[in-house]
Amino acid sequence: MSGYVPGEQPGDPGIIKLNTNENPYPPSPRVVEALRGDRLRFYPDPVCRELRGAIAKLHGASLDQVFAGNGSDEVLALCTRAFVEDDGCIGYFDPSYSLYPVLAEIRAVPGKPVALGPQFDWRRPPRDFAPLFFLTCPNAPTGIRYPKAEIEAFCCGYEGVVVIDEAYVDFAEENCMDLALRLENVIVARTLSKSYALAGLRVGYAVGSAKLIAAMYKVKDSYNLDMLAQRLALAAVNDQAYMRESAGRIKATRARLRTALLGLGYTMTDSETNFLWVKPPAGTAAAALFDGLRRRKILVRYFPGERTGDYLRITVGTDAEADALVAALQQMAEKGGV
Ligand code: PMP
Repeated sequence: MSGYVPGEQPGDPGIIKLNTNENPYPPSPRVVEALRGDRLRFYPDPVCRELRGAIAKLHGASLDQVFAGNGSDEVLALCTRAFVEDDGCIGYFDPSYSLYPVLAEIRAVPGKPVALGPQFDWRRPPRDFAPLFFLTCPNAPTGIRYPKAEIEAFCCGYEGVVVIDEAYVDFAEENCMDLALRLENVIVARTLSKSYALAGLRVGYAVGSAKLIAAMYKVKDSYNLDMLAQRLALAAVNDQAYMRESAGRIKATRARLRTALLGLGYTMTDSETNFLWVKPPAGTAAAALFDGLRRRKILVRYFPGERTGDYLRITVGTDAEADALVAALQQMAEKGGV
């Protein structure tokens, strides 16, 4: 099998890093404060009650409707353990998060992609498509948010478990949390890696019916979230104002970057995430731009493949990083594409 290929994490601090959808701003100052204290000789709370309590309060859920995990990647992996039999399969859209087919392979069941429409638009899968379906909204790498009425209609009649992966939802106009609270077969997965600027901490969570959440608790590692991660995540979740402000700045830069790239002849989807999914002007190959930017110490993401190979995924950084990116693209255009 081929394993998941994460975006590059270079050691060189001089690189402008727009390749893995991280937040360009620091996390809440409360997170740094929470680092004080010495309780590390004890094991952490195996079921993260305090953190889950704060998440439950935030979403109007009860404690038994919340699971906390080591990044939402762990949450997604545990869903494949908890909700798929050995003769099952796992559904997801194509293109979408490239981890899903890898999780299917690790679970040793077939991955079943559903092709999105020509503009990467929504397609409703059949109601018995797979016992587990990963629905990313807003989608990655396309940035598109699907119509909520369509998602709800799909989930209501669906025979399996639908995991709505909302990794980027804090940059979007609408979310599906109420579906997870109302519908027995729906889980919403979130992460602290993007809007909370804590990708290095590895904390994600799931909200859903108590029955589904209990199943996930049965199959997790004993102490899946370490004590520091629990403590710091709690501080971050309790500072919603800071997170909203940080996400707001990124949305403002997203709009600026979008306008600048449109001006250079790029086309793009209407992103509701912290990245843009852009197609270079005719005659310029996305792969060549990726290499050219890399030479100029700007990292973006390129996904080779039939549906994705004409695009670049560019994380929205700070205004200064966006300006540097646009200047580099402009320079390459003047030199003929490299
Ligand atoms: N879901 C999607 C759609 C993502 O793009 C990512 C980031 N790679 C994740 C989940 C994983 O996030 P985390 O850092 O919480 O594991």
